[in-house]
Amino acid sequence: MKSYQVDNNGYYGEFGGAYIPEILYKTVEDLKKAYLPIIESDSFQKEYRALLKNYAGRPSSLYFANRLSEKYGCKIYLKREDLNHTGAHKINNALGQILIAKAMGKKRIIAETGAGQHGVATATVCALMNMPCRIYMGATDVKRQHMNVERMKMLGAEVFPVESGNMTLKDATNEAIRDWCCHPADTFYIIGSTVGPHPYPDMVARLQSVISEEIKYQLKEQEGRENPDYLIACVGGGSNAAGTIYHYIDDVDVKIVLAEAGGKGVDSGLTAATIQCGTLGIIHGSRTLVMQTEDGQIVEPYSISAGLDYPGIGPMHANLAKQHRATVYAVNDDEAVRGAYELTKLEGIIPALESAHALGVLPKLNFKPTDVVVLTVSGRGDKDLETYLNYKKELK
Ligand SMILES: *Cc1c(COP(=O)(O)O)cnc(C)c1O
Repeated sequence: MKSYQVDNNGYYGEFGGAYIPEILYKTVEDLKKAYLPIIESDSFQKEYRALLKNYAGRPSSLYFANRLSEKYGCKIYLKREDLNHTGAHKINNALGQILIAKAMGKKRIIAETGAGQHGVATATVCALMNMPCRIYMGATDVKRQHMNVERMKMLGAEVFPVESGNMTLKDATNEAIRDWCCHPADTFYIIGSTVGPHPYPDMVARLQSVISEEIKYQLKEQEGRENPDYLIACVGGGSNAAGTIYHYIDDVDVKIVLAEAGGKGVDSGLTAATIQCGTLGIIHGSRTLVMQTEDGQIVEPYSISAGLDYPGIGPMHANLAKQHRATVYAVNDDEAVRGAYELTKLEGIIPALESAHALGVLPKLNFKPTDVVVLTVSGRGDKDLETYLNYKKELK
């Protein structure tokens, strides 16, 4: 049987691997040997499950969206990751990785962040576990995401503004890797999505897989069957999507629909639609699709949503698209914002701008009345209120 999971060498088809500097070889090799036995151990499972339940607030609810369903002529359930502590799915991964770091005897945590959401999740779990934490963030993003910077600082993290390049996520990532190279023995690098060198994409997917584990029994309870007809999620690096599809990936009767950020349009030059516009390259230690020029310079991505403007894509998702296991749509800024207003009006839920891209897919699909759809709302929209208000003027 064809499998869409990672192989023994860290590849999903032709994508993945670990393209890292020599000096990190041992550190990454240690992690590769350690992560599965740790994740599968009783002590990890006990502590992780307890934290997911009592700290993060899981299980997140699976909510039947009545009025939204009526509008699209099918049965739509929302997987409410927006209800988690810190407001998104990222806490699932951060909690898991800090427990792995502790189990490996690491003393210090580093992370990079773009919009600041992963930085906040990491700073949160470092406060919880009393671990020193340094967050790398592009200086441009530090200015743009002032509130998240203050949150991280209040949580006790040191935020390091990166002044090189465009001073955004890619530059923060380079700096985090540099730090890791200098302190490979005592430092654990918490990566926030299904990206980076093997074993990170698989490790993050496993830590997020609690999402589909819950969908299975929640849908069984409410709908009498475990498998929906459609799973829909947005993709930046791919972690909330990976969690949503993890336990369904080999059930080919379950259609997988992914929404990447089209920005102003895939042909506009202002886009983050990596699967449509990217070419094979290496980014962040992984071989995957990359938004790049012909001579391999990273092209700065654009999206209205700060959490989706990553110039790469997780190797798992690049492969799912290539094998036609997933259907990928580019959802433009205006389509996403419309989706967010629609959900707010119909269901009283203000979604994150990232999640709004998943909602923006609904008008593109032709549903049958009997279709059961599960759409993951990856985060809440409080952080995006200003953008929503400003953009509403443009939509009119
Ligand atoms: C970070 C983020 C995303 C994008 O990251 P993935 O790894 O693709 O899930 C999506 N939604 C929210 C709310 C986020 O914070």
